[in-house]
Amino acid sequence: MAAKQLNRSNSEALYEKAKNYFPGGVNSPVRAFKSVEGSPLFIKKGDGAYIWDEDDNQFIDFCGSWGPLILGHNHPKVYAGIVAALGNGASFGAPTRLENELAELILSKNPFIDKIRFTSSGTEAVMSAIRLARGYTGRNKIVKFEGCYHGHSDSLLVKAGSGLVTFGNTSSAGVPEAFANETLVLPLNDSEALQSCFEQFGKEIACVIIEPIPANNGLLLQELSFLKELRETCTKHGALLFFDEVISGFRVAFSGAAEYYGIAPDLVTYGKIIGGGLPVGAYGAKKEIMACVAPDGPVYQAGTLSGNPVAMAAGLAQLTELSKPGFYEDQERRTNLFTDLINSHAKEKGYAFELVTIGSIFWISFDNSKHIRAAEEINPDMTNFKHLHRALLEEGFYMGPSGYEVGFISQAHTDEILEKAAELFIAALDRIM
Ligand code: PLP
Repeated sequence: MAAKQLNRSNSEALYEKAKNYFPGGVNSPVRAFKSVEGSPLFIKKGDGAYIWDEDDNQFIDFCGSWGPLILGHNHPKVYAGIVAALGNGASFGAPTRLENELAELILSKNPFIDKIRFTSSGTEAVMSAIRLARGYTGRNKIVKFEGCYHGHSDSLLVKAGSGLVTFGNTSSAGVPEAFANETLVLPLNDSEALQSCFEQFGKEIACVIIEPIPANNGLLLQELSFLKELRETCTKHGALLFFDEVISGFRVAFSGAAEYYGIAPDLVTYGKIIGGGLPVGAYGAKKEIMACVAPDGPVYQAGTLSGNPVAMAAGLAQLTELSKPGFYEDQERRTNLFTDLINSHAKEKGYAFELVTIGSIFWISFDNSKHIRAAEEINPDMTNFKHLHRALLEEGFYMGPSGYEVGFISQAHTDEILEKAAELFIAALDRIM
């Protein structure tokens, strides 16, 4: 690999200190750069499509805080929304007008849900919605899919993607066997496994949870027929279909994969984009299901900072931009411009490489196949990704430090920036192949 040195001395010094304070020196495991070369870059600021680290290296950012920043860093409308809300106080623990306004915008464009409840993270939203599914159906078992990540609550840390697959152990210690036993895990895109599971446990299954666009273990695009079969099977057996749209919600379409594929889930969760970069999650469903949630019903769920006004203002400003005509078409057009430049170069060179893409999400795959639909089909040897990640950083291209994670394109990634980014990517790829 041609030597291009990145000065990382300030980041390295900060990381040495951080290791004294936090497990692995970080507050979320994948940030630790454990499966790539070097140590984490400490980020000083972001603006539009760019970020700068503590050594003043500039990068075009494709992590986007792992998805929330669909308008880029420091978007003027989101910034103004945050500052205006903050001017009135950071938190009241009482209802505010902003919660109504954000809910109204979401519900007016989403025919699948009648009511929503805001939480402070995606994990919290999913965990609460699972409780709701159990409370509503009176059943205990849930079905999840291998490689799908739904946050870090106990019943869902079983054969999960994201940081778990990155570190090679897809289930977590500390989850009681009794909890894990209530989680049935199936391979993705496998109709036979689904049917035999329902034959055996159909009457005990509260819900089937899936990332309709699985994006935490590579990008495992599902066949539409499989998603439709899930819908039909759930209906037939009285189980709820639960789309975890923490990544796909407001990303592939305003109403997420449900809108993109035209499939109505019974339960849905959002996170990331909904908070404009501040901590927000949400779960929603039709009225009869949401009627079970406290204080209307017996399923308890609460939060000191739920519906926090500053976070609501950030979400409202961001989603208002996304609701404008043509937003998603333009995101997809620019994403394809970027991925086509790289994919056609790789094809010309005969590299076993491809950027797999949907909407404005892309995944770096060295499997040379567009049709990987299940976690076990991914080549677990991440050596190529490891080398590419280092070369990308050296070229000025920032990605999440794991070959199982996806990249995100924002509105701030203009045609010109994406053409430049494709050049940097190709230079990095040519260096490692
Ligand atoms: N669900 C999905 C699909 C996710 O990708 C994530 C996080 O990446 C979560 C849930 C958990 O969200 P959070 O990290 O906000 O707790």
